[in-house]
Amino acid sequence: MASDETPRFAADRMLMRLARWLRLAGADVIADDSIDGAGLLRRARIENRILLTRDKRLRTASDVFFVESNDLREQLRGVLGHFAIDPTAHAFTRCSRCNAVLAPVERELVSRRVPPYVFASHDRFAECLSCGRIYWPETHQNRIAVILESMKPLSHGGTK
Ligand SMILES: [Zn+2]
Repeated sequence: MASDETPRFAADRMLMRLARWLRLAGADVIADDSIDGAGLLRRARIENRILLTRDKRLRTASDVFFVESNDLREQLRGVLGHFAIDPTAHAFTRCSRCNAVLAPVERELVSRRVPPYVFASHDRFAECLSCGRIYWPETHQNRIAVILESMKPLSHGGTK
């Protein structure tokens, strides 16, 4: 599946953490814990999204990916694997909180919006234009990057 055909998703209220992690991997995932599964499925179909759900009543519906596991890492691995999404290719391009695409922001503009040690030790910053959250490489993202890296399918047998 080409990267520009990466499916878009809607995550049900039992999968809010999975939604945040898929966003960290760059996937477009809406999640709204104020609407029930059937309501979300209607919205997902209108917006041409695949519904990710733990709701057994919806598992046979079309445009639905039933998430079997209750374990976050297994859920993440399952979705990434099923839809052949490379979790590192577009990592950290989307806000994990609100799904908006991040935009690069001038370093000078974030000087008072991030901790001083972060400002002092980083050159590149990105901003969520929806919620205003500032992202920067490394630090807390390092741990996340390691986990996303571990989700990559074992393939291409490298030389080492
Ligand atoms: Zn945001």
